[in-house]
Amino acid sequence: MGGIVKWTPTNYQNMANDAEVLVVGGGSTGTGIARDLALRGVDVTLVEKGNLTHGTTGRMHGLLHSGGRYAVSDQASATECIEENRVLRDIASHCVEMTGGQFVQLEGDSDDYFEEKLRGCRECGIPAEVLTAKEAREQEPYLTKDVKRAISVPDGAIDPFRLCVANAADAEMHGARIETHAEVTDVLVDGNDVVGVEVRHESGPGKRNHARPGTTEEIRADYVVNATGAWAGQLGEMAGVDIEVRPSKGVMVVMNCRQVDTVINHCRPKGDADIIVPHEVTAILGTTDEEVADPENYPEEGWEVDMMIDQLSKLVPILRDSRTVRSFWGVRPLYEPPGTGTTDPTDITRDFFLLDHEERDDLTGLTSIVGGKFTTYRAMAEQISDHVCGQLGVRETCSTADEPLPGSDDFSVLRDYMDEFGIRSPIGRRSVQRLGSRADEVLTTNGPNPVLCECEAVTQAEIQDAIDGSGTDLNAVRIRTRASMGNCQGGICCHRMANELHPEHDEPTAREALDELFQERWKGERHALWGEQLSQAALNYALHATTMNRDAPEANGEQDAETDTIDFSAFDAGRNSERTVDGDGGINGD
Ligand SMILES: Cc1cc2nc3c(=O)[nH]c(=O)nc-3n(C[C@H](O)[C@H](O)[C@H](O)COP(=O)(O)OP(=O)(O)OC[C@H]3O[C@@H](n4cnc5c(N)ncnc54)[C@H](O)[C@@H]3O)c2cc1C
Repeated sequence: MGGIVKWTPTNYQNMANDAEVLVVGGGSTGTGIARDLALRGVDVTLVEKGNLTHGTTGRMHGLLHSGGRYAVSDQASATECIEENRVLRDIASHCVEMTGGQFVQLEGDSDDYFEEKLRGCRECGIPAEVLTAKEAREQEPYLTKDVKRAISVPDGAIDPFRLCVANAADAEMHGARIETHAEVTDVLVDGNDVVGVEVRHESGPGKRNHARPGTTEEIRADYVVNATGAWAGQLGEMAGVDIEVRPSKGVMVVMNCRQVDTVINHCRPKGDADIIVPHEVTAILGTTDEEVADPENYPEEGWEVDMMIDQLSKLVPILRDSRTVRSFWGVRPLYEPPGTGTTDPTDITRDFFLLDHEERDDLTGLTSIVGGKFTTYRAMAEQISDHVCGQLGVRETCSTADEPLPGSDDFSVLRDYMDEFGIRSPIGRRSVQRLGSRADEVLTTNGPNPVLCECEAVTQAEIQDAIDGSGTDLNAVRIRTRASMGNCQGGICCHRMANELHPEHDEPTAREALDELFQERWKGERHALWGEQLSQAALNYALHATTMNRDAPEANGEQDAETDTIDFSAFDAGRNSERTVDGDGGINGD
């Protein structure tokens, strides 16, 4: 952790600043702020230590909240959720699927709570209707026969990767500099004023980076925004201020297909394992809420995965026998004002806080934003951008509630393409859904456009478009396209993706990119490895060993090293066993 760098006033005065505003953190909050400020004409630089969405944003449940979840416990958040839910449907239509949602009451669940939930929704302006058990099951045939009734609400599914990339791309189109793989290692403080940051560039040649890997850069700015979520305390420490973030982990389990087409919530007071979100071709089960000391190092345990399946099978019984594809964990950036002292993390507010360090700590030039939800990222970004503009004397107002994101500018384009390309095939339909109004630009090619990822229906043209945007980092290509996120977890397509890097990039670069991507997939698979998915993993291993010699030590450039094989029999004990898997905080869950 860096200390305070003492700058002499003479040094500082002699230097022009590199940006008006420097945003640290490339999650939903940071990219939202970068876009908001760039649209107001502010000169912004954003730095992110990993890929965009590397933190919590890449490990969330994918639920576009209607607000129903908070309609009893936190009506201010519920109201904000429904307002932003409507905005995002409009400005980010190609990232949203309006699945609708149900709050399901089972026999034995509290009637009073059901009524309270319904009343709460209506008080917060959330459209809510009671469904009989028959109506609920007509909509979702796999719901248990124990359904008593349900409340339907406008919950939806949202793609966090696509949304963040669209925010960053739009910021860039409006003049922002976006640096990924650029970690802030120190905050530069001159007296009582934050004047910039020191950044270490980590990506290699060809990655989306403007500096040499391993180099450091001092970026000076009039104002620094700390949008590092669960890491906000660490950045605060570099600036010499205390930020009491209370990171809380949650597990999610990805199923092989959509067992439900509607978001299913268990209608009961707070509890673990009570939501199923249909997401693209999968369903995601979640989640838990457990405070952890470090946002990067925490235990990932097999029983957490088992609990998701056991609990949620009570709502949708076929989940018990369905195939799990992977699991992942995320960490909420919860925050409590000093002295609140809530002991149960589920009671900590989901609200967000703008910490003006001038007011709070007598340190000018720095504001932190902590807490909040993905669904309300735009509103958070608006508030912090208003604050920053106030500090800089910028008069432009926020336009992000009205200006569509790239890809969502004209969503009728999507329907037109479906017709034009005669798109009935799932491949064309899914490409166009992902790309929205960018479909023409990306899918028009001079030659054939083969499918490279069959599970997620991703074509070569989409992969090439993503490489243009992200360079050789195939994990960045993955989050832009969903290639390698399907049932085979990259077994069949990782090497095809790597192949697309050639001839522009050399073979060692392509191999390294392949290894990074495949390793990333493995991190999430190993916690949910039994049954068919175990066979799939063993097949992937055999395919890569026999076609690319990937089990040979020299494949990794280690002539003398022991062959690094995987003992698949260690996973044979299956679910509900004492599985222990080396944990290293797997990245970018789904
Ligand atoms: C289990 C779980 C499920 C959730 N599900 C939902 C949901 O369904 N719907 C919803 O609305 N919300 C959900 N949330 C909440 C939501 O995901 C978060 O509130 C939101 O994504 C936080 O975004 P952020 O940009 O503030 O933080 P992050 O996404 O964590 O972004 C912070 C970024 O800062 C970067 N960073 C940190 N330190 C440095 C440094 N020194 N230099 C450079 N970069 C740095 C990190 O790499 C990270 O990418 C969920 C949260 C969890 C944990």
